[in-house]
Amino acid sequence: AQAERIEAAEPKVQAFITRTLDDAMAQAAKVDAKIAAGEAIGPLEGIPMALKDNMCTDGVRTTCASKILHNFVPPYDATVVTKLKEAGAILMGKCNMDEFAMGSSTENSRFFATRNPWDIERVPGGSSGGSAAAVAAGQAVFTLGSDTGGSIRQPAAFCGVVGMKPTYGAVSRFGLVAFASSLDQIGPFTRDVRDNARVMNAIAGYDLKDSTSAPVDYPDYEALLGQSVKGWRIGLPKEYFGEGIDPEVKAVIEKAVKVLEGLGAEIGECSLPHTEYALPVYYLIAPAEASSNLARYDGVRYGYRSEEAPDLITMFKKTRAEGFGEEVKRRIMLGTYALSSGYYDAYYLKAQKVRTLIKGDFDQAYEKFDVLLSPTSPTVAFKFGDRTDNPLQMYLSDICTLSVNLAGIPALNINAGFANGLPVGLQLMGKAFDEAKLLQLAYAYE
Ligand code: GLN
Repeated sequence: AQAERIEAAEPKVQAFITRTLDDAMAQAAKVDAKIAAGEAIGPLEGIPMALKDNMCTDGVRTTCASKILHNFVPPYDATVVTKLKEAGAILMGKCNMDEFAMGSSTENSRFFATRNPWDIERVPGGSSGGSAAAVAAGQAVFTLGSDTGGSIRQPAAFCGVVGMKPTYGAVSRFGLVAFASSLDQIGPFTRDVRDNARVMNAIAGYDLKDSTSAPVDYPDYEALLGQSVKGWRIGLPKEYFGEGIDPEVKAVIEKAVKVLEGLGAEIGECSLPHTEYALPVYYLIAPAEASSNLARYDGVRYGYRSEEAPDLITMFKKTRAEGFGEEVKRRIMLGTYALSSGYYDAYYLKAQKVRTLIKGDFDQAYEKFDVLLSPTSPTVAFKFGDRTDNPLQMYLSDICTLSVNLAGIPALNINAGFANGLPVGLQLMGKAFDEAKLLQLAYAYE
């Protein structure tokens, strides 16, 4: 039935780059046999899932929606994939995304655009747009995305689903194709909070294969749901309710805050004074790291190689010129510039210092509050083509989500209601490793 659902929705939504339905059917038959035989089953046994196409899947094409990896078939699974398979989940396919996760609308995919299931003339958000749309359209019970500056939360907001960006280090990045290694995190898209907690249980945890993985105790997120949130202190950072936020979005968020107040939460205003620097800091650090990470695509070992190259240097040049799209090239150039000698101190080093100040803002706010609350995106889903001519306008789509990655903290998007029939997302931000709290609060709200 799930396979039929995918096929029925796919012509309209176009969430998948690759579908693995035959394998999925074979898997499902095995699960049926297991259940019939009365064998023990995993917490996600038989549950249909899909993955953003930047997570390595053994034997299944992994493209990052890029021409340069159009034919890449990894010989191994990412740690999250291994864990989900162990939990019993079944892979239905790989989801569309902005090329190398650079973008906010999935329009930067080199293959095709994904449409928002709520209005197919609008974008699903990005960069994990395919993963968000697949859950919203009922094509998978859950999907995974990756979030470097908002790429789980913003598409979750646009598609009206639950999306978690975990604490940096809580979910292994082994097998996730790197964009900006100090910011990237994998997290789940689901229709409700309980499902999200259950997938978090399966994927969070220490992993020896990721040197930035955190060796801490991870709680049972699902078991902690259902507790009262009475007396919880929720802060509203005033910088996130200012001018750039669409008044209709603000109105929906303010209504949601009233609901939380009704549940006994104490609401107060707070300030994150360095918020205005998040965008410039992010667009120095992320491209700098990307320019280094993407140096490996040279056409030699794997991926696309230009046909017409008389010598090695020309081969490198042509492969990269043809293999990467416009936005990826823009980032490589920005990053290479920021890291070049003579500019390093003025740009990259300075950005790292301001990053520390941004993190300090959050540390201070959490002295007074348990959780911070804001809109996830300043607007609802926009129309195709609206922001493609103006990179800066596209970058502003993530103004509410970037700081969280710079600070390394967790944040959760849940649906707060609708404006003109389109979903409005609410963002809950927590202290490092406080995912359980975000899920508890969201569960109480839901
Ligand atoms: N939209 C942001 C960017 O283009 C964030 C992307 C992401 O989180 N992967 O870099």
